[in-house]
Amino acid sequence: MPILEKIGQQSQARHWTDSIPLEYHYTAGVAGEEFRRELKENGRFLASKCTECKTTYLPARMFCPTCFIETKERLTINKPGYVYSYTATSKDRSGKRPHWPTIVAIVRFEGVTGGIIHRLECDDREKVTIGLKVKPLLRDASERTGALTDILSFRPIGAGPAAHLIETAKASEKEAESGKTSFRVLLEMIDESGYPIGEEELTLSRIRDKVGRGATLTREEEDLVHKLADEAREWHRAEKSSADTEREDTMSG
Ligand SMILES: [Zn+2]
Repeated sequence: MPILEKIGQQSQARHWTDSIPLEYHYTAGVAGEEFRRELKENGRFLASKCTECKTTYLPARMFCPTCFIETKERLTINKPGYVYSYTATSKDRSGKRPHWPTIVAIVRFEGVTGGIIHRLECDDREKVTIGLKVKPLLRDASERTGALTDILSFRPIGAGPAAHLIETAKASEKEAESGKTSFRVLLEMIDESGYPIGEEELTLSRIRDKVGRGATLTREEEDLVHKLADEAREWHRAEKSSADTEREDTMSG
């Protein structure tokens, strides 16, 4: 039956399974391409400014959406960014838990409209706050492709040297692949927290032994480690805050 032929009765309807090759090319647009080129070649963020309302947009855009005129002025951002908003996610796209939660932040710049959503790396997650001053950590110039992934992450100002962080990022990628090292890290964290394990101690010591030998954990064992790690983290945080409160009480009294 030809594809455009009309059918008179539902029982005449047929279907077949096949595939249609379709190929898409998306372009970043004129200003989008300029932004990417500046990031790739000079490692800087390109913004555009409207001559009418004086608004600066990041990433650079071709038109001012308020004045409906072309933005002719281009400038690069030379100041630190700040965390406008953020969230932490403890599972990756496949539902697996990486050994440390990923923080995703909207980074904005003083006096600039727009911003960049990216990974935020901070050694101490509890130090992440709205308004935290951050700077981008970029890939080495020879590795940059003009994609947003040329930015490895944002880091709080004054945080450790870049090279070390790149190594850490690479190492944690490798860890995620094998999954074994991350369980070692979680077990260490549980031990260090001092969290009272209780009746699961026996199972946990068996898991410790397996991880020590490099054996693969069962799904139930993996889940138990994650559960205990979450509990230990919460417990440690509660302990710490009650210790802080006691100190304050002592001082005021
Ligand atoms: Zn304008």
